[in-house]
Amino acid sequence: MPENDDYIAINLIQHYTYCPRQWGFIALESQWRENAFVVKGDIVHKKVDDPFDNEKRGRLRVSRSLPVFSEELGLNGILDLVEFEENEKGVFIKQLGGKFNIKIVEYKSGKPNVPGQVNFHDALQLTAQILCVEEMFGGKCEGYIFYDTIKRRVKFSEFAEYKAKLIEIVNEMRKHMESGEIPKEIDKDKCGGCSMSDVCLPKLKFSDLEKRLLKRESDIK
Ligand code: SF4
Repeated sequence: MPENDDYIAINLIQHYTYCPRQWGFIALESQWRENAFVVKGDIVHKKVDDPFDNEKRGRLRVSRSLPVFSEELGLNGILDLVEFEENEKGVFIKQLGGKFNIKIVEYKSGKPNVPGQVNFHDALQLTAQILCVEEMFGGKCEGYIFYDTIKRRVKFSEFAEYKAKLIEIVNEMRKHMESGEIPKEIDKDKCGGCSMSDVCLPKLKFSDLEKRLLKRESDIK
């Protein structure tokens, strides 16, 4: 079982897949910058972030801000919304005293890039969430993204395809966590919308930066 510090926060996986360097600043240096995209995402999440707002409607139980984890992969996170619907063929959940079909619903600003399909970064996040829930409750669950722009849920149907990719990414992230080094690669196409650009300084090449630091050191001497 991983130690507490070794767990990977599920909500940071999308930062890694967007740009490993951005994830490095957030996860390894605890830096955080907000930009318009981040703030918009937060507003969408505030609609569901209330851990005490659980409800029961007929055969349906709704749980918001549910903490989940996977000991096997060393992942943890908080799910926006989980629906448990009573069903004789479902998963037995001791805490709820019955059998249930489980649905995860993650809330996102924006819309699907391809109508009817979950976007790449969201798909990886859902894959991690599904793995956690299936490990915790010992049975299958479904995943959906609610895209705020279209005000609709989109079903995630590619769990099997994304599972191997997610495990590969988690292993990469863990290597960086072990070394403690911020990934160096700069992906210029992503920098325009990045909340970490003032920390990362992507226009300043490493070689230039190193030269300047070395010059400053020799000037001081
Ligand atoms: S500015 Fe560019 S290279 Fe730097 S963290 Fe952001 S996306 Fe990555």
